[in-house]
Amino acid sequence: MGSLHLHCKWHHLESRLIQGDVYWTKRLQLVNIMNKSDCFYFAVENDKLKKKDRAQIFFTALHLSCANEKNYYYFFTVECCLFSKYKSSAKCFKNKCGKTSTNPYWLKGYGDLGYILKDKKIIAETKLWLEKVFQSQTPDGYFGPRVIEKEQANNKDTTPDLWPNMVMLWCMQSYYEYSNDARVIPFMTKYFKWQTTIPDDRLLKTYWENSRGGDNLHSIYWLYNHTGEKWLLDLADKIHRNTANWAQQNNLPNWHNVNIAQSFREPATYYMQTRDTNLLQATYNDFYLVRNLYGQVPGGMFGADENARKGFDDPRQAIETCGMVEQMASDEILTGITGDPMWADNCEDVAFNTYPAAVMPDFKALRYLTAPNMVVSDSKNHSPGIQNEGPFLMMNPFSSRCCQHNHSQGWPYYTEHLWMATPDNGIAAILYNSSEVTLKVGPGKDHVVTLKQTTNYPFDEHIKIEVNAESAVNFPLYLRIPNWCNNASVTINGKTININASADSYVRLENTWKQNDVIELFLPMKLRLHEWKKNKNSVSINYGPLTFSLKIDESYKLMNSKQTAIGDSKWQANADQTKWPAYEIYPASKWNYGLVLNDKPLENQFQIIKKAWPPNDFPFTRDAVPIVIKAKGKIIPEWTIDKYELCAVLPQSPVSVTTKEETIELIPMGAARLRISAFPVVK
Ligand SMILES: [Zn+2]
Repeated sequence: MGSLHLHCKWHHLESRLIQGDVYWTKRLQLVNIMNKSDCFYFAVENDKLKKKDRAQIFFTALHLSCANEKNYYYFFTVECCLFSKYKSSAKCFKNKCGKTSTNPYWLKGYGDLGYILKDKKIIAETKLWLEKVFQSQTPDGYFGPRVIEKEQANNKDTTPDLWPNMVMLWCMQSYYEYSNDARVIPFMTKYFKWQTTIPDDRLLKTYWENSRGGDNLHSIYWLYNHTGEKWLLDLADKIHRNTANWAQQNNLPNWHNVNIAQSFREPATYYMQTRDTNLLQATYNDFYLVRNLYGQVPGGMFGADENARKGFDDPRQAIETCGMVEQMASDEILTGITGDPMWADNCEDVAFNTYPAAVMPDFKALRYLTAPNMVVSDSKNHSPGIQNEGPFLMMNPFSSRCCQHNHSQGWPYYTEHLWMATPDNGIAAILYNSSEVTLKVGPGKDHVVTLKQTTNYPFDEHIKIEVNAESAVNFPLYLRIPNWCNNASVTINGKTININASADSYVRLENTWKQNDVIELFLPMKLRLHEWKKNKNSVSINYGPLTFSLKIDESYKLMNSKQTAIGDSKWQANADQTKWPAYEIYPASKWNYGLVLNDKPLENQFQIIKKAWPPNDFPFTRDAVPIVIKAKGKIIPEWTIDKYELCAVLPQSPVSVTTKEETIELIPMGAARLRISAFPVVK
């Protein structure tokens, strides 16, 4: 599902990048014999969702409960697409409101959610939309409405904006991987044939499609993996040369946060065809360039509250919710291309520390922008402190429609990448969470095995994997060791295995696995201090994959969703705003603390308190978090709200203060919708 098949058989380990190269070579040779049995199947049984031991599926379960709330997603799609009005002409994925990708965005996450949960209702609704997409294909191969962007309007002989089509292709790929619907391959083949007829000077010429051509490339390779038709690789060359250049030295074609988060992987995607390691390196370079300039902050993202701007690199600068989920998807895909566990680490950083705070715990509202240091979440205009003018910091289900739709991919894509198949007919646990995977393993891929993973990770150091196999079978099981873990250990059926696992690597367990085998992985978590020297010597406190924020009392002010929605949202006539409330969040306690640190071991300076797992299986709220940390802090009186009504930029640490030392409480920053997670240090 999702992007799974394309990269599901990464090669990796000792020399990751070279091995990735070998992998792709193998892949090209195998392409014509590829079929479903080559791929692994992901299975989460819907009827097991309520079971306690499957707690982590809360992500998707909550998402589902939200999606099932009548009309939540649906009225967005109706509003922007007028589905009933246009149902015969399939204008169902380019709307009349100017934002042309919102419906495909929604469907991309929604469909995959249905496939994962095997939810008949969601799948049926997804198919309703996809049928219209099939029907929209014209004899020349194009599908969907032909929306000509303004910047192309004076050129009569022009092509439509292809960005929404790119998203819809991903919907089609997921649908095919779920259904094997025989129409998908010819549909995509015909569409890409049409792309071959478009002259270079008319292809991917407007802003979004030009930035995001890598997504088109991804789909071409997906199809190539199924058909092996060589002309697709020629088309891939053409798409690459007409896409913005993401392989520049120390520069990017543009600095829009979402473009960066999804497009920086374009060179690595094209590398799979060219095997030019400079292209692969370019993706790494882009990642580190942005992190060096604007990402000297906790949470795995970077400050770009629309675009990254010179001089705006403080942790109070925010990131768009679309940027978060696109970064997660990129990390998942790049794990597949490279096998490099650093991408999985970054994915978890964003997924656990940044993304949960962008949405309300019931998923009914979200905000466009979330920052590592964010002490007010209101409807005021904070520009130019943040770039956008308007109420971009408040939680409103009717604002910022791109994020409302696009974020639906976040947890489903994450779930689809918990496990990945390996080229040696085994499987890798990439991202840890409670799940079940059914796969075909062994020399002939003829053994069906189910692995059940149980854990409360990232709030738990212990991961248990149980084998369910009809007969004993030999295959390798890879376990990712996160970059923060130096002393991982493994037991098989209670017996400790000598693994010598280093951080940022994989453990490979090749064994003849049999029914009821139990593999247990222990990832001991330790306190770690991250110093942000480039951001005023501020510090963050980490424990395992979690970063901690000051626990700020959050005062929620109910707002009228209609009155506070921003202009791109247009109000839906039939929507009851009282059922879809908007909120401002204000601090009800002091936030301007610096941390008191000394030379003693961190274990002596901080106290970790573990609490019971929340009964509702949702740990990302202030009161439900299963781990809190007690620390010492002092108020910094001069660190206040500034003229833009944001928390002022960090003071240079160490900060001299005369205020008294207090015990303060820290909570995982993913649960802190108001947060200070990059702290000044006081003396
Ligand atoms: Zn967005």
